[in-house]
Amino acid sequence: MADASGVSSNNLRITPIQWVICVVAAIGFAFDIYALLVLPLIVRPALMELGKLKPGTPDFNSWVGMLFYVPAMAGGVFGMIGGYLTDLFGRRRILVWSILLYAFSAAAAGYATSLPVLLFLRCTTFIGVSVEFVAAVAWLAATYDAVTACECLDGCPSCVQSPKCGNGNEPLDKAGALRLLAVLLADTDQPR
Ligand SMILES: [Zn+2]
Repeated sequence: MADASGVSSNNLRITPIQWVICVVAAIGFAFDIYALLVLPLIVRPALMELGKLKPGTPDFNSWVGMLFYVPAMAGGVFGMIGGYLTDLFGRRRILVWSILLYAFSAAAAGYATSLPVLLFLRCTTFIGVSVEFVAAVAWLAATYDAVTACECLDGCPSCVQSPKCGNGNEPLDKAGALRLLAVLLADTDQPR
């Protein structure tokens, strides 16, 4: 992890930009979790309003089961093939499209006017979040390897700095970049 990359304790402070990245990522994951776990709050009024179903009836119970079970299954299956998709189409493309799928589905689910449509949009929400997570972790792990493998000492444009970013851009901080990536990857099973 951080020590293995030769990061000295002087460089362990996180810079303001790295804090911004962490905060934005945390907000993103908070929204992901909210969108996935909001169902217990809305399932009863949604079934009564969209399906005109009475709580306790067999129809009501079977829809509750489906709304919990089917999107989770869809997310699990697509999460497993997410790695294959990132290899096939590229990590950035899959990450962007999965985020767009998730964002569109979560917003559209709020406008569903029937239960099958709500179920479908809940499935695409789960698929978006699951694939997004797989693509993001694969990309971060590859970035960590690329920065580690670079021959420079303190960071250079080929590993930690985008040459496209001009004005006042001098954060050639290899140690900081590796530390941030290690923190982001800490709870994943990606090899480092
Ligand atoms: Zn470098």
